[in-house]
Amino acid sequence: MLEKLNDLQSKDLELDAVHSEIGQTPEELIQLRTKYRQVEAELKSIEVVYHDLRKQVNNSELEIDALAARRKASSEASLRAQSAKEASQYQNQELQFATRLQELEEDTLPLIERLEGVQAEVNRLQDHLNELEPNLIALNQAEEDRIIAIEENTESLKLERTALAANVPASLLKQYEQVRRSKKGVGLTTIVDGKRCGGCNVQLPIHVMQKARKADVITKCPNCGRILWNRAEA
Ligand SMILES: [Zn+2]
Repeated sequence: MLEKLNDLQSKDLELDAVHSEIGQTPEELIQLRTKYRQVEAELKSIEVVYHDLRKQVNNSELEIDALAARRKASSEASLRAQSAKEASQYQNQELQFATRLQELEEDTLPLIERLEGVQAEVNRLQDHLNELEPNLIALNQAEEDRIIAIEENTESLKLERTALAANVPASLLKQYEQVRRSKKGVGLTTIVDGKRCGGCNVQLPIHVMQKARKADVITKCPNCGRILWNRAEA
């Protein structure tokens, strides 16, 4: 009975190993994913800055165009003036527009310079992402293939496991699974040196040993709770 349970446990441990293997993403891929996300986040935040600046520069440029048009209109009006007084009024207007235009242009220049700097940073980060991408795609694909291969293997292990579980009485199976869950995978353990629990290494009391020698009684280690298998007699 316990022999069959031991066969089942071997299969369970094999499945456990496969599951932990699935979780073992290659370090190179983990690092590359982290790097990519980092650069992506940097790019996103710098793009926000870029769009804000772009908007400011666009608004200033619209205003500059409007002022230039008004200055030109004033200049033309002064040439068409009917009197020296009127001409002088238009010339004053033209001068005011010219002054404001110059101020605005001076204020806009540093914005344009910053915009160029930010644009260069956006390009640099985008280039970096483009550089990382082919390797990331290749490694992701390899990882996907690796997991699919493991899962295919798992399918056959699961079928074998089901077949083995059918050989074990339901009540024993239930107890085994309970212990296994709480004991990191090992629910059944052998008795070592005829007196110690192979799971936790504690020395087993005589009455436990006597019970464990009976083939049809399920005995658990009083210390760790694992099902004991007196292998020599099994
Ligand atoms: Zn024990």
